[in-house]
Amino acid sequence: MKEIIVKDDAFAYGGFTSGGSGIWTRQQPDDPPVDDYIALGRRLGRELSEVVRPYQANGSRVAAVGREHGGSGVIKDNELKRVDGLVTAERGIVLSIIAADCVPVYLTEPVSGVIGLLHCGRQAAGDILRSGAEQMKALGACPQRIHMHIGPHICGDCYEVGEDVRAELAGNFSPAELKAVFSLRGGKLYLDLSKALKLRAAAEGITDDRITETRVCTFCDSSFYSYRRGDRGRQNLAFLMMK
Ligand SMILES: [Zn+2]
Repeated sequence: MKEIIVKDDAFAYGGFTSGGSGIWTRQQPDDPPVDDYIALGRRLGRELSEVVRPYQANGSRVAAVGREHGGSGVIKDNELKRVDGLVTAERGIVLSIIAADCVPVYLTEPVSGVIGLLHCGRQAAGDILRSGAEQMKALGACPQRIHMHIGPHICGDCYEVGEDVRAELAGNFSPAELKAVFSLRGGKLYLDLSKALKLRAAAEGITDDRITETRVCTFCDSSFYSYRRGDRGRQNLAFLMMK
């Protein structure tokens, strides 16, 4: 198991873990929680009824959750369908998302007491960050105080994409920005999700001085699961909670 704690301050605690087996999904709605979630709950000192996991769909929907959602996707059937980001203003609720190359984005606003956790694949270049910031604002957060941490994900040297992706994302960036986000090497096109996210963050008022990053590539570092490297059904888990 490899685990990186990406945030541990007076306000919040968050990390990124492969888990033991990388299995975070139960097969049937009434199956017991999986071993990796049980072990994570122990490490965090939280009950699994305080952990929330959405049913992700590589989209840009973000849901505000509270204690009433506790255990969803972990110990009971998942009521959060087609949701790729979670925000909460409640202490002790553990937000969690699975990722195997996509970017986990950790958002914290300590003055208002609001946090968010987003699963960003190609939608890193799209609207999920805006949705996350909007949902945090709705809970009282001030965008000028939001801190963003970019977690481990497939790096810009490894994430090869097709021309269709560049065409799809062209509307979100200026020509100069597109040049920074995509690079052409040896006739192959690569997408740098971190750069894309930073540009989108600037548009939301989250400036570079409030952005930090864990520079670990899930494709290069085989201690983590990677979809591109061939892992299927096994993922890493990102988690974040307000202390
Ligand atoms: Zn890499």
